[in-house]
Amino acid sequence: MNEHSHDWLQLKNKVCIVVGGARGIGYGVAEELLLAGAKVAVLARSIDNCSTLFAQLDPSGRNSIALSCDITDKSDLEQARIKIKNKLGHIYGVVNCAGIMGPSSLHNIELEEWQRILDTNLNGALFCMQTFSKDMIQENEGSIVQIGSIAAHNPQTFSGSYSASKAALEMLSRQTAAELGELGVRSNVICPGMTRTPLTESFYANPEVGGRRAELTANKQIGTPSDIANAALFLLSPRSKYINGTEIVVDGGFETMAMESIPRPGYSELRDQQRALLSS
Ligand code: NDP
Repeated sequence: MNEHSHDWLQLKNKVCIVVGGARGIGYGVAEELLLAGAKVAVLARSIDNCSTLFAQLDPSGRNSIALSCDITDKSDLEQARIKIKNKLGHIYGVVNCAGIMGPSSLHNIELEEWQRILDTNLNGALFCMQTFSKDMIQENEGSIVQIGSIAAHNPQTFSGSYSASKAALEMLSRQTAAELGELGVRSNVICPGMTRTPLTESFYANPEVGGRRAELTANKQIGTPSDIANAALFLLSPRSKYINGTEIVVDGGFETMAMESIPRPGYSELRDQQRALLSS
């Protein structure tokens, strides 16, 4: 984004929190927020990466803070809230990017593993909303952006409660919008598709696998943290003030490609013909 388009977002000097902002999608969100002139608090259990980010984009250190915090612990979040307010001021927005996944099959998953993912992806999102919406309600203005997943709409198999957690997150967000909308607080979800981050890096170790994954999208590309960050900044921004209780899918058109997997003799060949025609 250039400077002008950042002005358009009206986020300058607004205090925004990025939970899970020390790597991956959250890091991209924190980066774009600093470029937009927002005051940024990054929360994660490990915040080592933040020193590089802040040295580049907030060398004075006045407009940013990184705090070690576990989203599954409500008292941790409350302590962070107080520190953020003391350093940066009134809290306007939060983007919750904290999320985990892990392999397991439903038929024999232990309750502990099922719960581990829900604790972060769902209960953490609830704690996050409860903690930071207080300040937004006080000022009758605020925006919450939860990072969901296309796995909320498409069962991600052998991933324990991951899909269930993301589907529930969408309803948590809609319920938040319905309960807090009249108090000036908006809540929306971004559903990323395949995005290259430390969480998914092992999927791209083999370039051939990466290529096959990209081929499944309409754009024929894997997403980047900044693709997700652009949508997050818009949903944080007052420019989206009439958008509440909804989801934005950012997946390069992956979800729209379901019909492509159906063999249709007489039709499927037309894509190859189109490619040949346009490349000649
Ligand atoms: P990463 O693993 O790269 O980053 C996750 C961030 O969340 C890290 O900063 C991590 O820091 C933090 N985090 C994890 N658990 C906690 C916790 N208990 N408390 C505080 N912070 C925590 O993941 P991505 O950037 O790839 O994913 C971000 C979100 O996007 C997740 O919700 C994920 O489900 C979702 N998503 C990702 C997709 C992808 O393809 N990458 C696709 C669809 C959705 P630390 O571990 O140090 O606490």
